[in-house]
Amino acid sequence: MPQNVPHTVGTLVRQAAAQLADSPTPMPTPMLDARTLFLHASGLSHADLIAGDAGPVGEEVAAQFQMLISRRREGVPVAHLVRTQEFYGRPFVVSADVLIPRPDTEMLVEAALAVMTEDAVILDLGTGSGCLLATLLAERLSATGRGVDQSASALAIARQNVDILGVGERAALIEGDFAAAPAGPYTGPYDVIVSNPPYIEDDADLPTSVKNYEPALALFAGPDGLDAYRALAPLLARWLKPEGSAFLEIGTGQGAPVSRLMIAAMPDRAVSVSKDLAGHERMVTIGPVH
Ligand code: GLN
Repeated sequence: MPQNVPHTVGTLVRQAAAQLADSPTPMPTPMLDARTLFLHASGLSHADLIAGDAGPVGEEVAAQFQMLISRRREGVPVAHLVRTQEFYGRPFVVSADVLIPRPDTEMLVEAALAVMTEDAVILDLGTGSGCLLATLLAERLSATGRGVDQSASALAIARQNVDILGVGERAALIEGDFAAAPAGPYTGPYDVIVSNPPYIEDDADLPTSVKNYEPALALFAGPDGLDAYRALAPLLARWLKPEGSAFLEIGTGQGAPVSRLMIAAMPDRAVSVSKDLAGHERMVTIGPVH
């Protein structure tokens, strides 16, 4: 484009979306990505973007936007470029040290909130960005909880998130494997245990923007993807209150094997599998028998 013709917002965003659609690894949501990155580069709001489609774009914003689009074309996740991802209606800080919160995981929030009292005591195993724990604490104002993660750098992100959401004083964040959960404040037994553990088979082929940019620790769980559930089952048996419930995210096809592991460890509890909106098995619930 000649120097003296100013870019308009609309043309720039549409050109960028076309570049993303035409990447070495085509991006599944090019227009959404381009809009999100333009908002980040320009500091405009969503409403400004819609109203200002024909407006001019300064050279500095255009250059910044083009840099973001190039990085996205290499496969860098949008959430890393804008350093934030919305989850259950709230913004979460993210980095390469944590799994980017996924909309699928909001299903665990809905299910946990349905059984949580105002002052529930929560345990989040493999808390990562803290999106599950922080959301539950933000939704139940007298609840307290503990998040456990093996990664100190993930916990630093979780700490930022609980503090930003104003729930930091009700959250204890503990470094260690799942078995590190009992010591310190908000000791169990727990009313609610949530976990989005790693559940991908070690040799599974993942999209570039997941495989190259998200932490392996949060994704892979042994040759059959079930190692984390094997570790979780006896801990849930020990730490869940008799009337408490646990909600575990699972991958497609894991409903039966994960249920078997949970029933073997907790034969006196009810275990069920739920599907997400796309019709995939997404959650195993362990609760009291009524
Ligand atoms: N749902 C994530 C993915 O498909 C995996 C998350 C996990 O292993 N907990 O990439």
